[in-house]
Amino acid sequence: MSRETLLIDADDTLWENQVHFERVIEGFLVIIERLGFPHPYARRILNETERRNIRQFGFGVRSFHTALEETYMKLAGNLARREVVKQIGDLVAELTASPPTLLDGVADTLAYLAERHRLILCTKGEPAEQAGKLERSGLQAHFQAIEIVADKDSRTFRGLVKTHRIVKSHGWMIGNSPRSDINPALAAGLNAVFIPHAKTWHFEQDELSSGPGKLLVLPAFRSLREYF
Ligand SMILES: [Mg+2]
Repeated sequence: MSRETLLIDADDTLWENQVHFERVIEGFLVIIERLGFPHPYARRILNETERRNIRQFGFGVRSFHTALEETYMKLAGNLARREVVKQIGDLVAELTASPPTLLDGVADTLAYLAERHRLILCTKGEPAEQAGKLERSGLQAHFQAIEIVADKDSRTFRGLVKTHRIVKSHGWMIGNSPRSDINPALAAGLNAVFIPHAKTWHFEQDELSSGPGKLLVLPAFRSLREYF
């Protein structure tokens, strides 16, 4: 195969992400349940608050933390207590405390791909937060460039094509999110590899669309070896 440019997503493509957020949400819902609100209701309020905050603060732990606090304040009203706000902060702090858990086969497969192709990490979120995760992951050396963007839409991908002089027919976006990885990359004329993750965030779900480029659907990150 010729030398390709592989844009690679990070959260839930290289390492576990959503599962850690879900654990914090579980802990949060236990706290909320004590106020007498059933899980589904509290979860719905949280989801709505999260979506609103993303528009204002972008993606990341800080935005998530604010959404949890606001949901608590909204549900607790006059009964809101400072020590509960602190408890929520402690739950969130665990998200950034440890190195990311790599998904199966990621380290070996990246080493293999980096010898043959140009790898560019392409993730969205807060620059310091995502750069910190990458550093703790030990995977940084495999990438020729790191792109941490506020959001991934087709305009973002057209910009990356220009910046990195990617020949579209030899450019691929690899990730777990139809909404942020696959559909906008295809719309920008790139090829895409969809690697579903069982715990993909509801926000990232979408119907897979088709585009002028090729679309591969693979069961695991290590399967990339068979195609690249
Ligand atoms: Mg992802």
